[in-house]
Amino acid sequence: MTRAPPLRLTKAEVEAVFRLLAEHMPGRTPDAKGPKGQPDRFRTLVACVLSAQSRDANTALAAEALFACANTPETLLALDEAQIAEAIRPCGLYNAKARNLKRLVAALIERHGGQVPADRAALMLLPGIGRKCADIVLSFCFDRPVIAVDTHVFRVCNRLGLTHQTTADRTAEELEERAPEWALRDGHFWLIQFGKSVCLARRPLCESCFLNRYCLAVRRSAFL
Ligand code: SF4
Repeated sequence: MTRAPPLRLTKAEVEAVFRLLAEHMPGRTPDAKGPKGQPDRFRTLVACVLSAQSRDANTALAAEALFACANTPETLLALDEAQIAEAIRPCGLYNAKARNLKRLVAALIERHGGQVPADRAALMLLPGIGRKCADIVLSFCFDRPVIAVDTHVFRVCNRLGLTHQTTADRTAEELEERAPEWALRDGHFWLIQFGKSVCLARRPLCESCFLNRYCLAVRRSAFL
């Protein structure tokens, strides 16, 4: 009887996959700013909050409008919720996000003197900041070797078998354990580019994919 494919790639296969990603995909560039190209840590953190369930273009519009009114924790705290909601309307869920932003900047000022902390646990204790936002801030603002898991990274990792998880947060945890250390610095960039150019959400280019010999999604479909 043929055995079903495993749920995850072996350590050696994970290593081989990252070697191929490094060979084929662009990594971190010196001017990589995130998300959406914000120029400082505070604006990066706020843009992360705005980006929840929002397209990049809409997040950028909301961020631009908001930062034209206030671009420091103190000036943002001075705005009332209705003003914030009006500015960030393009990114959706604007009432809830305005409420969260007020709580976020109040906590940032109270606990960290208005400075964005360089620590995952401290970031995740801030209102409205989850693992993805925390990891984006650590990676982009503090140059930490952290693979932030967005929708592309989540899809690619679980299709390939780098991880076997159902949420982005658990994928991030498992990836941290399974990815080789040398791949942590650029892994986010390789995986995103791979997800955008090869392992597309709707129609992945499996036939020409340079990872198809390892991919568990392919092995599973052959098994069915
Ligand atoms: S073989 Fe297909 S599903 Fe697997 S990683 Fe490549 S593009 Fe994605």
